[in-house]
Amino acid sequence: MGDILKVTCSDCSYEREFQVGMGILYEPLNRYVIVSEIESKLMQDEILQTLETEQDNVFAKKELYYCEKCYRLAARLTVMVGRVGKKYTTQYRCPHCNKAMKVTAFGDKTHHCPKCKVGTLMMTRVGHWD
Ligand SMILES: [Zn+2]
Ligand SMILES: [Zn+2]
Repeated sequence: MGDILKVTCSDCSYEREFQVGMGILYEPLNRYVIVSEIESKLMQDEILQTLETEQDNVFAKKELYYCEKCYRLAARLTVMVGRVGKKYTTQYRCPHCNKAMKVTAFGDKTHHCPKCKVGTLMMTRVGHWD
């Protein structure tokens, strides 16, 4: 199960919905999910290669990523495969300014609006997906 989050700005008309969380679809994590959820071919190959040898320690969850430079938000599939010391973890860059995006949760900090840059974003849970 996952949550549908609605994000709105306090100052402008910015409004977007994001799907995050754990979907039934990701269990088990297969090739189809990786290819459809992850844009980067390089990243796809890295995950698929790691999965060939490692099937026990796989974690996949859709999370909200935030760019601290341009304030862009994106829902991306976080994939962690492997054991400590030889672990593969997805890392996403902002498509706009190429800065590494960070997994974020509302409630722990202020998120600025990617559209007007001055407003504060508010998040509400509006539904579920599976
Ligand atoms: Zn705004
Ligand atoms: Zn950015």
